[in-house]
Amino acid sequence: MLKKLKFLGKIYIYKIQGLLGLKRTDIMASINDYYRDSFRKLRKDDVAVILPHCLIDEKCPAKFSKSDGVMCNKCKLCGCGSIYESAEQKGYQFYITPSVGFTKRLIQRKQLKGVIGIACEYEIERGMHAEKITLRGIRVNGTGVKTQGVQLHKYDCIRNSVDWEEIREIM
Ligand code: SF4
Repeated sequence: MLKKLKFLGKIYIYKIQGLLGLKRTDIMASINDYYRDSFRKLRKDDVAVILPHCLIDEKCPAKFSKSDGVMCNKCKLCGCGSIYESAEQKGYQFYITPSVGFTKRLIQRKQLKGVIGIACEYEIERGMHAEKITLRGIRVNGTGVKTQGVQLHKYDCIRNSVDWEEIREIM
């Protein structure tokens, strides 16, 4: 019970900080902490690693699928291919998404129960206001999804970077 109250309190404080224009606390760490145990109990094939398109190389040769996003062929021009390999080995689904809207539809289409997601600070802030963060998961289009997230290094839609090891550690 105390854990639940602390979690809800942190979300409330995060939103208030935003409204007052104050520096926000690291909400991703709080969300990861809260959902970690239940996330680990999920079947791996109900979970997807979803990377944002801003991590792919500018010369990425992958084709785009309207249903599955960027179809990485593991060419090794960027770090996404290596994460794809690890995700496959561990039994996770893997996608590279062009947008937040696409990610939400993907979660619904694939009926995902868990997501290892990567997002920039701006998208995290937007998501915190747009999605309902509940004790049973983040409500995405009516579905409760347990998430484990990693924050991108910057707000850049073309040339972004991330701590790849942090993603591997979560996997
Ligand atoms: S590893 Fe995948 S995502 Fe990265 S450039 Fe190659 S095909 Fe594109």
